[in-house]
Amino acid sequence: MDTEYDIGLGNNDTLTRKKANQDYVKFWEGEANNLYWFEKWDKTLDWNPPFARWFVNGKINASYNALDVTVQRNGHKNAILWEGENNKRRVLTYHELLNYVCKVANTLKSLGVKKGDRVTIYLPMIPELIVSLLACSRIGAIHTVIFSGFSSQSIRDRVIDSKSKVIITADGGFRRGEIVKLKQVIDEAVSDLDFVENVLVYEHAKIPMLMGKKDKRWGDLINNAHEFCEPEKVDSTHPLYILYTSGTTGKPKGVLHGTGGYLVHLYSTFKWIFDIKESDIYFCTADIGWVTGHSYIVYGPLMHGATQVMYEGALTYPTPARIWELVERYKITILYTTPTALRMFMKYGDLLPTSKDLSSLRLLGTVGEPINPRVWKWYFQIIGKEKCPIIDTWWQTETGGAMISPIPGLETIPLKPGSATRQLPGINVGVVDEYGKELPPETKGYLVVKDPWPGMLLSLWGDDEKYKSVYWSKYKTMYYPGDYAIMDNDGYFWMLGRADDVLKVAGHRLGTAEIESGFVSHKLIAEAAVCGIPHEVKGESIIAFVVLKEGAIQSEQLEDELIQHIRKVVGPIATPDKLYVVSKLPKTRSGKIMRRLLKAVANNEKIGDVSTLEDEAAVDDVRAALNELNQTMQQNKIK
Ligand code: ATP
Ligand code: MG
Repeated sequence: MDTEYDIGLGNNDTLTRKKANQDYVKFWEGEANNLYWFEKWDKTLDWNPPFARWFVNGKINASYNALDVTVQRNGHKNAILWEGENNKRRVLTYHELLNYVCKVANTLKSLGVKKGDRVTIYLPMIPELIVSLLACSRIGAIHTVIFSGFSSQSIRDRVIDSKSKVIITADGGFRRGEIVKLKQVIDEAVSDLDFVENVLVYEHAKIPMLMGKKDKRWGDLINNAHEFCEPEKVDSTHPLYILYTSGTTGKPKGVLHGTGGYLVHLYSTFKWIFDIKESDIYFCTADIGWVTGHSYIVYGPLMHGATQVMYEGALTYPTPARIWELVERYKITILYTTPTALRMFMKYGDLLPTSKDLSSLRLLGTVGEPINPRVWKWYFQIIGKEKCPIIDTWWQTETGGAMISPIPGLETIPLKPGSATRQLPGINVGVVDEYGKELPPETKGYLVVKDPWPGMLLSLWGDDEKYKSVYWSKYKTMYYPGDYAIMDNDGYFWMLGRADDVLKVAGHRLGTAEIESGFVSHKLIAEAAVCGIPHEVKGESIIAFVVLKEGAIQSEQLEDELIQHIRKVVGPIATPDKLYVVSKLPKTRSGKIMRRLLKAVANNEKIGDVSTLEDEAAVDDVRAALNELNQTMQQNKIK
């Protein structure tokens, strides 16, 4: 076991845990009282497996809870401190944000958008993106955000799937000093789709664009719209949004979230996880195109009246110090990012962060992948100066909000690098075997959620059957997230990678994260990915791909050293049969390593459809990485 880090914030509310353990339904009912309801529910949970409906017959509005509640208290409070890659800045108070949202909501209404209609949003990371989501929820329309890096074909597939009536986009967005022409991509994607009635275009990049029949300029309509819009009192179970998953393991799934339960989950978890205070400056580096942005940029922080930094562009542009300059400039107190981003920041060495004033930071969060213990320690020591707890939050698009995480806002427990610690109050998680039998601690198995939770997805959009088969067919009565995990003797969870990627070597089961973290613990390794190929004797043998840190030089000697290293830190069982040094690994646009592709290449199988997952540039990246891997493999270097 690794060193434990006991850095407390002085909270220890065991009563909340106790209440949650006694009766999770009653517990969440109590939490729901923190929100504003137009009418209270008459049934807290309607559990008709596998469909859960929370706060049935309650009437609520997401934008009202995100904006009006704070405006009534302190409308002058800053909601968004926005910065563009080109140093353009904007500040919006809660009052301004509410007015803006109302104008856009009224505009959507004037375009014929009604409660339950879908609106596709394809915008860069600008305040108008937050405004658009909230404008939809204000009138009960279902938003479906598509990450602004996606190509026209991916947009087309999603727009057809959701049958969106209106598309909101911009002329362009900024990324690495270039303008991405978003409107042009939308034109290719939807111009011949008859059910798309209007395309609302915000002029952000101020570039010329072709305006067709359906196209409306944002400025023309919004400037004339009314500043007040009555919030639609929707049922708690009314869909709030559709969001397609990252697509790390296959075709993205259209996850459908409801309103009341989802908001309750976010209100409570945002408070527990980030211990949010009135004076905090919060910064989540995710894109709103992914669930982290929906939950912990839009709904969670706004419901708490938090002030947050929003940034458009690459965090390493124009220099890799950009992220640390943002922390210094805005005196950010809470930073929430991903292991993949941290590995990238780490690659550039310690001098960049240590030369900036990061003393404002008090909490550091991570999400998206297992965090390698070495990366955890770097985050803790170099960024947090051993003062800030590392909040490793495990959750999924489907869970809506965090499920396993340290919760400094509620309790202080020792942290262990690489573990997301314990399940949240009111959440019932376990590790089971192939047959659903609960496993004793320290035994590897499949993660499951044993009881419904408020942020739980309603279904997959338009496909209840798929919803049942993906999440509820392996274990009939438990939700199956598809992750491989272990719970230790202290009840801490360790995520070992995706269940589908588990390697079976000589009778041992190894999660990808176990071996990859072993590689990343070597000082010259920036990133690693492993996969298995069939082996006559062992069942499977391990193939490893590693990316070196900046300045490290590849050599036979280093490769041998890495093999020895992995034998030492993980064990001889984890010795890869082949090891390749590559310059980059294939990733999804959300930054996750696509082991599925590596596996396909390593096993000489068809790669499958990647166009649905990536924007064109990313597809090229993926292909380049794969070609490189192929070439290296053909050289048949056997270690
Ligand atoms: P798809 O389901 O389409 O393959 P995806 O699973 O990558 O895409 P997300 O919902 O964005 O889409 O990711 C959720 C997954 O990310 C989890 O199931 C888990 O594998 C991983 N994950 C998220 N947070 C953590 C964490 N803190 N520790 C370990 N793994 C994590
Ligand atoms: Mg998933």
